Amino acid sequence: MTTPRKRPDRPAHLATVTATERTAPDMVRVHLDVPAVRDAATFPLDQTDHYVKLLFPPVGASWSWDDDDADADLPGRVRNTLPREEWPVMRTYTLRSWDRDEGSVIIDFVVHGDAGIAGPWAASVTPGSRIGFMGPGGAWHPEAGYDRVIFAGDEAAAPAIFAGIEALPYGTPATAYVEVADAGEPLPLPVRADDDGVDVVWVGRDGATHGTELVRAVTAAGIPAGRTQWFVHGVAEMIRDLRRFLFVEGGVPKEDVSISGYWRLGMVEDEWQASKRDFNREIEEAEAAAAGS
Ligand SMILES: Cc1cc2nc3c(=O)[nH]c(=O)nc-3n(C[C@H](O)[C@H](O)[C@H](O)COP(=O)(O)OP(=O)(O)OC[C@H]3O[C@@H](n4cnc5c(N)ncnc54)[C@H](O)[C@@H]3O)c2cc1C
Repeated sequence: MTTPRKRPDRPAHLATVTATERTAPDMVRVHLDVPAVRDAATFPLDQTDHYVKLLFPPVGASWSWDDDDADADLPGRVRNTLPREEWPVMRTYTLRSWDRDEGSVIIDFVVHGDAGIAGPWAASVTPGSRIGFMGPGGAWHPEAGYDRVIFAGDEAAAPAIFAGIEALPYGTPATAYVEVADAGEPLPLPVRADDDGVDVVWVGRDGATHGTELVRAVTAAGIPAGRTQWFVHGVAEMIRDLRRFLFVEGGVPKEDVSISGYWRLGMVEDEWQASKRDFNREIEEAEAAAAGS
């Protein structure tokens, strides 16, 4: 007998795909109509790293967001009435931009081959399709008072990096290191990338493992003089190296740095999220040992 389960406290938000466009060989931009965005009181958007948890039906599920009766309570109904293997699968994505008046958002998806749920969904979804999500979360924006803001990340972090560039305090210099498969085929530049003092440096992977070329570029450039604010996100393995560079070797204050793994090589998001705490704890222990030696 199935044990009744508590429904989640919050309903999902509903989004309807209005358009998709391939903005780079490995990147698909999905335009979504999201009525909830119109309400600033219940949908706060005051950071540049806002993300949502998209709720996908698992492969073979008996339900879909395109079902006639799908509404914001669908995840609750599924969790209360269907076995665990039918429960929504969460994938985390940044809101690249939003328009409160229109009630719309843009999400940029890395298409990393046929693997996964979200990447293939973005590559094949068509206007009219619906998806639910939880959120938004987010906790960072570039601040005035720093001598330079430095961004570093791979394609998965590019949407948050570019939203950050577009919100830079006027007059604050910034450098963004963005790793892409091929530096000759970069992503669309954000607004304000041409501002005086704003540099976007494309770091080509050229077949290397994700993150290694980014680590090389950032560490080779060194830590600029003055007070620096950092936003560093992307593949987990790169985070380990750049944390060491910033905190152990560079002595950058932790409060000036936002740094985390967005995904991990060889792990689906569920596995990465479940192991992230241990991964971070091991890194922090290694940093403490290195700092004390
Ligand atoms: C706060 C936050 C914000 C994020 N914002 C974005 C965003 O705006 N755009 C975006 O594309 N991603 C973003 N990500 C990363 C995204 O959540 C993961 O890449 C996620 O694993 C993709 O889900 P999937 O179903 O496509 O692949 P999964 O089923 O999770 O993974 C399948 C396989 O693909 C590999 N894989 C996953 N991501 C990548 C990748 N980027 N490149 C190469 N291989 C990969 C995995 O290692 C695994 O082997 C964000 C993550 C976080 C935590």
